[in-house]
Parts: sequence; C-alpha cells; structure tokens
Amino acid sequence: MENDKHTFIVRCGEIALKGMNKPYFERMLMERIRKALRHYDGVNVRRKEGLIFVNAPAAYDVDKLANDISKVFGVASISYALEIESDMETIQEKAAEYMLDLMKTRKINTFKVEAKRADKTFPVQSPDIARRTGAAVLKGCKVLSVDVHDPDCVLYVNVRRDSSFIYADKVRGFGGLPLGTNGKGMILLSGGIDSPVAAWMMAKRGMMIEAMHFHSYPYTSERAREKVYDLTRILSGYCGRIKVHSVNLIDIQQAIGENCPAEEMTILTRRFMMKIAERCAKKYNCDMLITGENIGQVASQTVQGLVVTDNAVELPVMRPLIAFDKVDIMDLAQKIGTYEKSIEPFEDCCTVFLPKHPVTKPKLENILHSESLLDCEALIEKAMETLETVVIDPE
Ligand code: ATP
Ligand code: MG
Repeated sequence: MENDKHTFIVRCGEIALKGMNKPYFERMLMERIRKALRHYDGVNVRRKEGLIFVNAPAAYDVDKLANDISKVFGVASISYALEIESDMETIQEKAAEYMLDLMKTRKINTFKVEAKRADKTFPVQSPDIARRTGAAVLKGCKVLSVDVHDPDCVLYVNVRRDSSFIYADKVRGFGGLPLGTNGKGMILLSGGIDSPVAAWMMAKRGMMIEAMHFHSYPYTSERAREKVYDLTRILSGYCGRIKVHSVNLIDIQQAIGENCPAEEMTILTRRFMMKIAERCAKKYNCDMLITGENIGQVASQTVQGLVVTDNAVELPVMRPLIAFDKVDIMDLAQKIGTYEKSIEPFEDCCTVFLPKHPVTKPKLENILHSESLLDCEALIEKAMETLETVVIDPE
C-alpha cells in the first residue's frame, strides 16, 4: 500500500475518559500535533475508528518525528506502524518484512504476535491471525523463536476495515491533556531548577503558559536573563510560543534594604514579586499564578513563609511541586530537558540581596508592618515601568 509515507498510531490516554467532551479534546489534540509538526511538509493528522493517525513523507526521520509527537501533551503513546491491505496473505508477508527490518537495529531472539480484529467481517479470527502471522515471521526470520511469556519483541497486528497495521514498539508520551483545554497560568520563572518544571507540569494539564521573570539589573547580568529565555525556549518545545515578561526589582529591593529589617528581605521581595506577577496576570488574562515553590526546601519556603507569600495576592497560586522531593524534581527536569540549562551558574535577584539570617517563621503582622514603612503602590508602579516583553518560539 502506501509505503512512500510513515504512519504513526497515536493513543490519547486520559482523553478517552472525557465522555461527552471527548470529540473536543481529540480535536484539540490533533490541532496540537499539527502545530508541533508544522515544520514538516506534507504531514496529515486524521482520526479514524477511535484512533489518531499521523502520516508524514518517508523522507523524514522516524525517530525525530516520533520524538516530536511524543512531546505533545495528551499523547499517551505512539507506535510506528506499517499500513497495509487488510488481507491475510499481505499481513503475513509484511509482518515478516517488518520484523527483518526491526532486527537490523535491535537484538531480538524471541517474539510473539498479538492480533486484534477491529473489523469483525474480516474472515480470520484474532487468535488465528496471531498464529498465522507468527508462523510467517518464524519462516521469514529463521533465527527467531516464539516466547509468549517474556518475548524480546511483541509484534502487534491490528486489522481494520480499510487497512491493517503492523507495529512493534510503543513510544511513551507524557500523557496529560492538550494545551489550551485548561486556561492560562502565569509562571514566576527564575533561572533555577524548579520553576521550569512547575510550568511544564501545569502545561501538561492543558494550561497555556505565560512567564514572568524578575531581575536586579545591573546587579544581575544580562546573561542571567538570557538563561531564562533559553529555559523558556526549551519549555516552548512543549508549550508552543511563550511570552516572557521581565521586571526590574532593584528599586524595590533597595527600598526594603533601607527601610525594613534585614532578615525580612527575602519574604518581602517575594511578596512584591507575587503582587507584580498578579498585576501582569490580570493584564494578560491569566487565570492563576504558578510557582516552583516547595515545602521545606529553603528558608522562604517554610509553611509560615508560604502562608505569608500567599497572602500577598488574590489570584489562586498553583504550586505543583509543593510535595516533591528535590531529587524527584531534578529527575523530572532531566527528563524534560531543562536541567542542564538550569544548573548553569548565574545569579538570581533573590541571591543578590540574600540576608545572612532570613526569617524562617515570618509573622504576617510583622511583615505587613514592614510593608507599611514602604510606599508599596508607588514602588510597584515604578517597577511596572521597567516591564519588557519578549516572545519565545520553539526552535
Ligand atoms: P527555582 O529553582 O524555581 O528558582 P528555588 O528552589 O530556587 O526555585 P526560590 O528561589 O525560593 O526557590 O524561589 C521560589 C519560587 O519563586 C521559584 O520557583 C519561582 O517560581 C519564584 N521565583 C524566584 N525567583 C524568581 C525570579 N527571579 N523571577 C521570577 N520568579 C522567581
Ligand atoms: Mg531560585
């Protein structure tokens, strides 16, 4: 049949549970797959008999295509498939060819065939399809033997009305829900390990992402801000285009330094960040704020610190990493590809003015009192004047 093109079968895990809304979620997912593959010419994404199929010209690299599809949220797994005629002889012949091809790149000694007959009018029943296909593969690939319990390779045969599919591996996607199905969040994005992971986790649940970064230029360098843009670019590989707003906090930090107790610097700065992020979130129609905060990790992230931080804003604050251990966050950062960039050593605005002994159990009344020594509104408005917005697209 059409072997001048690659065929992928895409399975959408959780979307299958969405009942009445399923068509909507599937449409969104297909749209996202199309967007993720827009740099390839001649890609076709279609839905047929409950599965999503992606076709692309054979000239493109299979692994690269599979990798790009696997990054689309909502994709549970992908299989590279051979699309052939629904005809028993063809299935047998092509299955043997497919296996021979596979054996060129993988060490396979044992296999089994699993067959599924979606088209009940097909004259051969599933167990028989499996048996006959298995026999053909054995004949075509003499060194192989069948192991139904623990095979090196499972060969799937899926017989459908218009065509049949042969495939072996399932490449796992990240699951989740298609972007754009769950509002928009404003991530407070530092250059650290945590906040990019937090953004990724919310995006995985279908939330569009916009980012807010605070710097203390000239105390923090332009390179530090570039690093945040680089991280955003990695994220945009999953989330598509992301707007990054940055604001200079230096005047605020200096005002705090001159007027408030030194040990409150971090928590007071954090509250200003939240307030400014909230203003921007409202201005750019974001539904929530997102941070990479985590309970207990550092001095400002004690329960009391988080309560006092939370109190600064009205918008809900999502903290998807709140209960993660650091090692698990680092693992996830590796997996999504932000880790190496995050550990590059650049100063963050919080570290520039880090107090020697930050207050670990701030009392809200004390913090509010300290803020009353400042003209918060004027400081925020002045900081907002430094707002710069950059649009980051995926590579
Ligand atoms: P991260 O690895 O995300 O920097 P962290 O463990 O260093 O987190 P903190 O420095 O206490 O923790 O920051 C907690 C959260 O506050 C960050 O995850 C981020 O959401 C936000 N934040 C901190 N610094 C900045 C900044 N310069 N710009 C924007 N948001 C920031
Ligand atoms: Mg940090």
